[in-house]
Amino acid sequence: MKIPLLDLQRQYQNIKQEADTAVCEVLTNAHYIMGENVLSFEKEFADYVGVKHAISVGNGTDALVIALKAMGIGKDDEVITTPYTFFATAEAISFVGATPVFVDVRLDTYNIDETKIEEKITSKTKAIMPVHIFGQCAEMDAINAIAKKHGLLVIEDACQAAGAEYNGKKAGSLADMSCFSFFPTKNLGCAGDGGMICTDNDDLAIICKALKIHGSGEMGEKAYNLLHHIEADVEEDTSTDNTIYNPKKYYNYLIGHNSRLDETQAALLRIKLRHLDTYIQNRRAVADRYNNAFAHTNLVTPKCGEKSVPAYHLYILQFEDREKIVSYLAQNEIATGTYYPVPLHLQKCYTSLGYKKGDMPNAEYLSERTFAIPMFPELTQEEADFIITTIKKAIES
Ligand SMILES: *Cc1c(COP(=O)(O)O)cnc(C)c1O
Repeated sequence: MKIPLLDLQRQYQNIKQEADTAVCEVLTNAHYIMGENVLSFEKEFADYVGVKHAISVGNGTDALVIALKAMGIGKDDEVITTPYTFFATAEAISFVGATPVFVDVRLDTYNIDETKIEEKITSKTKAIMPVHIFGQCAEMDAINAIAKKHGLLVIEDACQAAGAEYNGKKAGSLADMSCFSFFPTKNLGCAGDGGMICTDNDDLAIICKALKIHGSGEMGEKAYNLLHHIEADVEEDTSTDNTIYNPKKYYNYLIGHNSRLDETQAALLRIKLRHLDTYIQNRRAVADRYNNAFAHTNLVTPKCGEKSVPAYHLYILQFEDREKIVSYLAQNEIATGTYYPVPLHLQKCYTSLGYKKGDMPNAEYLSERTFAIPMFPELTQEEADFIITTIKKAIES
């Protein structure tokens, strides 16, 4: 039985009619940029997450970059984060000119170890960027308390955590700002690239809206006034049809980005958002099945934090001889993935930061032992059981 790590074709087949109609409608209406679907999706996603503002952008990496910029983080600043994550987390910090300062992870949840954050805070530290790795929220209560004590901002990298919960609240509503990715493999994925920034802060929302579109127009002017403490009303220009020609577009107030969510992607995401809770429930059911099956083996299964209800973006196992299981599964046409083979403090591009092997023992330990097995909402019980049986055979082989 051939089983992929995830199967996007199945997900599409289940919403094919709805999705085809919605995408064709966008093509027919020809309102491709910042249309009705984008505006509605932003509202619907904000409601889902439980925040005041959701600002759509071109991808998750841009979401992180724009959020950091909106917070005024840049040159000579430090941002505390985890080395056990996808590269974009640290890349965004570096991109705005700041320095990522890595704090090792917990061996149980694989998230940033909140007890090791304070010792890394310096006079240059401006923010903490926890990542809800593999779809489980970091210890946000403790992290927010540390941030409050030291006057720091907190940005959730929630790119893997759409639908996860912490203390009864949704991931993305737990800090000053949060960032999501709609890359096809994520919990809520579109047919290409997409991203979102969430916040309850009105001023940060305006600055993000300006930065994502060249710092131009009405939003650019509003953001400029905010940043320069100018109290003035910004008039909306309704003299022409905004969708075809907007004269304000050619007046730039900030140096920003071109980072928008496409109307076709928004149309698709609106449909998938309505299914997201079902997708997550299905993921949790698969995880339960795996957890029970592997409970009395030498495999280390994912540990769930006390306040956490994970979304299981990935299902990660740990085994001393990872290669043995991975190659046995490959022979049996079961896909696996290694997340993450090189912790970020040991990446070539970060040599200049001066970290060495042994600096983040937990992240390094995990990078040699963890692997992902197939996890997606449409995985059948038969497939899950075949995976379980095959893994048990691999352990004994
Ligand atoms: C996917 C991901 C990103 C980047 O999102 P893109 O949409 O691919 O740019 C950032 N951080 C984490 C933790 C991710 O998993």
